[in-house]
Amino acid sequence: MKHIVIIPDGMGDKPVAALGGKTPLEAASTPNMDYFASRGIIGLSRNIPDGYVPGTDIGCMSVFGYDPTKYFTGRGPLEAAEHGIDLKENEIAFRCNLVTTEGELLKDFSADHISTQEAKQLLEPFSAEIKKIYGQKVRFYPGHGTGYRNLMICEDPDRTLDKVRCTPPHDIMGKKYADYLPQGNAAGLLLDLMTRSENFFKNHPVNRKRVQNGKSQASRIWLWGQGFPPSFPSYYQRYGFHGAVITAVDLVKGMAIHAGLDVIKVPGVTGYFDTNYVGKAEYAINALRSRDFVVIHIESTDEAGHIGDPQLKIKAIEDVDRLVLGTLRAGLSEFKDYKIMLMPDHFTCVETRTHSSDAVPFFIYSTQDEKNGDKKFSETTAAYSGVKILEGHTAMDFFIGAAKC
Ligand SMILES: [Zn+2]
Repeated sequence: MKHIVIIPDGMGDKPVAALGGKTPLEAASTPNMDYFASRGIIGLSRNIPDGYVPGTDIGCMSVFGYDPTKYFTGRGPLEAAEHGIDLKENEIAFRCNLVTTEGELLKDFSADHISTQEAKQLLEPFSAEIKKIYGQKVRFYPGHGTGYRNLMICEDPDRTLDKVRCTPPHDIMGKKYADYLPQGNAAGLLLDLMTRSENFFKNHPVNRKRVQNGKSQASRIWLWGQGFPPSFPSYYQRYGFHGAVITAVDLVKGMAIHAGLDVIKVPGVTGYFDTNYVGKAEYAINALRSRDFVVIHIESTDEAGHIGDPQLKIKAIEDVDRLVLGTLRAGLSEFKDYKIMLMPDHFTCVETRTHSSDAVPFFIYSTQDEKNGDKKFSETTAAYSGVKILEGHTAMDFFIGAAKC
């Protein structure tokens, strides 16, 4: 039995006025999702436990089958693992975004999707500057990240930085950013680094060139998602098999590494609308020739939600359906038996341009237990099915454990 898990990041959504009250998933044409959902089971899964901020870190941890209330220490340490950085017990890792501010407002959490090369050109000299002030206590890793997604690691033997309240920048787009700067007794260091970056990046040649080319500047760094090193039981320990993960997102790669899963690189994967969807599916099929389990994570659906464009989100969902699920549906026929679970990590609502904790729609399909049905896969049909997983992390046990569904 082969197992395929598909995570269309942030695909879940609420009814959108501009779509006549339909969600983007309802408005999209998704013949392949509908095919599998009709022959399997559909339902809702609560991936974000009460009291947790709805994010890819918590949502994906649930989809991967790890209880966030037990295993989550922060997003930073997961990303550090992806970069091959062995975080020590007395060290804390932060996600370090490059962001664009305009006046008092946070304009873009991604600095207009700054390239990896440009991010490196900004962070390298900045890192050298910070080293003069803080020595080895504070370390940036220029060139390790993808685009705006970077990393900062800090020595924190007294574990005080863990308690500083930091806000994900994608949650405060268009808001007055000063209201969301790090807060707490130990926040001073973070505020200092963020302010220094603003002064350092101002008029930097990289930014001057970006402005000339009609792009937004990287105005400053934004630190958040901090955590100490976590420890997960591996998939091999849990289920006795080997698997792989295909994703462009560092955090998800880090989760895979902690779970003892291989990270498979696919050419042309960008984490954006121009990603190599077909390649993801083809590499997943190839991975299954020597493994029992593969996860395909797709980021474009989340990005469309953050941009707030319903048509763009519909297009991203349709691309996932046609290019990822369509390719899988054709290619998986080489395996005698397989199961597919499709489950977003969380909602990313186009109307609010941010994540929400609503229970996500999912389907599970098994070649060993094909049902008869005719369903449009959507938030609404999933809710009507009456199937509801109250703790999202238990879905994986169910998916792997049950031959039938
Ligand atoms: Zn996400």
